[in-house]
Amino acid sequence: MSRAVFIGDESLWAGGHPPGHPLRPERLRDTWDMLQAYQAFDAPNTRIVPPRPPTEADLLTFHTREYVDAVRRLSQGERGFNYSRYGFGPGDNPVFDGMYDSEGLKVGAALVAAELLLNNEADVVFSFAGGLHHAGRNFASGFCVFGDGAVAIQRMLAEGWRVAYIDIDAHHGDGVQAAFYDDDRVLTISFHESGYYLFPGTGFTQDLGEGSGRGFSVNVPLFPYTDDDIFLWAFDQVAPPLLDRFAPDVIVAQLGVDAHWRDPLTHLALTTHGFENLFQRIHQLSPRWLAVGGGGYHHTVVPRAWTLAWGVMSEQTFSNVLPEAVAANYTPPFLHDEGQPPIVVDQRRQVQQGTEQVVEELKQLLQF
Ligand SMILES: [Zn+2]
Repeated sequence: MSRAVFIGDESLWAGGHPPGHPLRPERLRDTWDMLQAYQAFDAPNTRIVPPRPPTEADLLTFHTREYVDAVRRLSQGERGFNYSRYGFGPGDNPVFDGMYDSEGLKVGAALVAAELLLNNEADVVFSFAGGLHHAGRNFASGFCVFGDGAVAIQRMLAEGWRVAYIDIDAHHGDGVQAAFYDDDRVLTISFHESGYYLFPGTGFTQDLGEGSGRGFSVNVPLFPYTDDDIFLWAFDQVAPPLLDRFAPDVIVAQLGVDAHWRDPLTHLALTTHGFENLFQRIHQLSPRWLAVGGGGYHHTVVPRAWTLAWGVMSEQTFSNVLPEAVAANYTPPFLHDEGQPPIVVDQRRQVQQGTEQVVEELKQLLQF
């Protein structure tokens, strides 16, 4: 059995983005409540470990001092400087009091996860509050203030590990890619809705890394209406052969679940069945992995999808009928989706052909 650790306690959703923002802290609370209702941490191979705040030195392994200082000043209520240069303002990245602590804690959670793996105290760790893959060294972007994944990867690189980063969020993992774009110790593979259709507008097949990192950034842009079977086909074509060649010490997986067909921000068409299959594939690809959360903006999808993720990591099967304590919040009251997303056959054929072309391009560019 895998030794599975879940990083969490209520401090992770006590603060966070203000009401009305898509990255609602309730996403975390509702996931936690569902897992508790399933008694998902009772199995002897599982345990919960609380997050810790990061040190400033932790943050500086990825972010600039100038940016870390700016976030701290904004967090304390200071507004008398041009903070739009750091990506903050109305819209995606609002300034809010306490954000240094609430967003910093998500980095600390990922660091606790990385250290459990480095110390061989766990095989699989889920830091569900993180996955903030758009944050830049010197700017906030796409709801992300601090890059928990990038900091956790830096921590593992410092111990000499080679890291494969797999990102299945519907958005391109641009922040993590940029952090290691010229680094051959980190292989990033991002599956995402094409930048032609979705924020952040990047992540095309020809973006392969630079310098000694060339060939170590891999992008699989997907078409709107991509469903479970097409996503899984693309994953199987690309991820296993590249991981085989790279031979990582660990996989860091960003498990954003906004590729779901009901997600209000994206146009992909996965179901919980597709997600569970992806989680299983990652689990099979590496006996040691660090999972971080990510996007997911449909309030009844996120808790169910991440409960399934924890089930895969900790090798437990949860009843498809939701426990009584949470069932009333979900219609129908099941862990898995019922039925299929509404996609017509013509769309599906085009999506499939386009995806085959994308994979063919990648095979030629990367010679696998
Ligand atoms: Zn996303």
